[in-house]
Amino acid sequence: MFQQSEAFLDIVDEHEYDHPRCLGRMLLARTRDLDQIQLHDLRPAIRAALEHQPLDSEKPGLAQHYCVECARYFESDVALRSHWRTKLHKRRLKRLQEPAYTIEEAERAAGLGRELRTSTVSTAA
Ligand SMILES: [Zn+2]
Repeated sequence: MFQQSEAFLDIVDEHEYDHPRCLGRMLLARTRDLDQIQLHDLRPAIRAALEHQPLDSEKPGLAQHYCVECARYFESDVALRSHWRTKLHKRRLKRLQEPAYTIEEAERAAGLGRELRTSTVSTAA
């Protein structure tokens, strides 16, 4: 999945960002997954586009105050700046610095969790 998305991003790079209409559609997506933000939104060119969106009356603050890391719109520059100082945003930054989550890792983590639970039960009994 991880290797695939790298190749996919290259295709997207070539074909999508030159077309503002496609970028607009992408921005309409309500929520962004962490790995989408990590692998996509934080690329300098995309980040710049996200931070300089055209005026949009349907978005909070006309889409002029966007936190790329959290994929959230704010009403004003003051609101965005105070958001940057929140725990929520700082935690998000930390998580985005970690490598993108893969299915393999998730499965390994789930397996480990089960093993630990079983051994606890058998020790108690
Ligand atoms: Zn944020």
